[in-house]
Amino acid sequence: MSKFSDYNFKDQKALVRVDFNVPLDDKFNITDDNRMKASLPSIQKIVKDGGSVILMSHFGRPKSGPEDKYSLKHLVNHLKKLVGSGIKISFANDSIGDDAVNKAKDLQPGEVLLLENLRFYKEEEKGDEGFAEKLSKLGDVYVNDAFGTAHRAHASTAVIAKFFSDDKKMFGLLMEKEVQSAEKVLHSNQKPFLAIIGGAKVSDKILIIENLLDNATDIIIGGAMAYTFFKAQGGKIGNSLCEDDRLNTATELLEKAKQKNVCIHLPSDSIIADKFDANAEVSGSLSNNIPDGWMGLDIGKIATQTFCKIISKSKTILWNGPMGVFEMEKFQHGTKVIAQAVADATANGAFSLIGGGDSVAAVNKFNLAEKVSFVSTGGGAMLEYFEGQVLPGIKAIQS
Ligand code: AMP
Repeated sequence: MSKFSDYNFKDQKALVRVDFNVPLDDKFNITDDNRMKASLPSIQKIVKDGGSVILMSHFGRPKSGPEDKYSLKHLVNHLKKLVGSGIKISFANDSIGDDAVNKAKDLQPGEVLLLENLRFYKEEEKGDEGFAEKLSKLGDVYVNDAFGTAHRAHASTAVIAKFFSDDKKMFGLLMEKEVQSAEKVLHSNQKPFLAIIGGAKVSDKILIIENLLDNATDIIIGGAMAYTFFKAQGGKIGNSLCEDDRLNTATELLEKAKQKNVCIHLPSDSIIADKFDANAEVSGSLSNNIPDGWMGLDIGKIATQTFCKIISKSKTILWNGPMGVFEMEKFQHGTKVIAQAVADATANGAFSLIGGGDSVAAVNKFNLAEKVSFVSTGGGAMLEYFEGQVLPGIKAIQS
């Protein structure tokens, strides 16, 4: 593989896989353009070098063939605004047919072509070689800058790479940063290394916790998943969320952590509510002695303070999953204070990576995204990376 920043794209047509799967409202306005913005540095470097850019992406989940609401044409005007008036942007209403082939052929240095939604062909998700080969013929160089889909072995994210020689395939700048940040955390020798794992379900996070036991110093477990651990240890958790079929798993994880000398920290107290509702009645309780009829919806004051102390001493921090139901004001305090503590630790020299859907939403909600070291754009991909899996989109470029 080549290194993107060292590569000179002059007179090259770069076929760049991006993740433009952005949310739209019912008037086709983009409600969050972060994924588009994240691809700009790669686009700008190629254009600056005197190359041209052919962008390809999936968009939504079209069922069978083209559907207007999933057309990438709805993004063209916004893309024009983002890249600026100096760069010509055109759109091909297909990803492999004549329109795409002709427009790619006519593309001049400094210009950008956006192809239609790849998922209008079922071959994309099937990882079809013929489809991947047709796509590959559109460009001279393949750049994968779509970390969000790197865990999928699709035609444009993995299979396509085999049609380019080693020196003509590479990660884009975003992907490079994602991989570097994840590697920095996973193999960190800046200790203590703290993983903060929260969210709804233990079952979603078992593999991550197991994998982190090899390198973490401390693991904080918050969110609903903590109650499965409390129940497994014989605690009373009232109506708190619990995965009864994972009680043994929770006990095993605690056992393994002990063997590997990793400290698992559970929230000693909780903010409890009489129902799952923004207007519920609220009280405080020890997390292992929650009264019947009540449920834990956030970490409590003592737990928050304890966790903040651990965060302030850490040199490497990975955070995945909120500490409570942060979407509701009454239960956002724990997540908000933890987010601020991660930002403070970062200001004091720690490296912090926020990865996975809801913790990313939380740092954005509390306006702290700029104050941590890196916020990953890949939810599922980042989770699989931290589970220790080899992502097909990464492997395809590296091998
Ligand atoms: P996940 O996608 O697994 O990271 O879970 C995120 C979701 O977990 C968020 O929507 C939170 O509202 C929810 N959550 C966090 N803590 C709790 C809790 N104590 N009880 C119920 N849901 C929770």
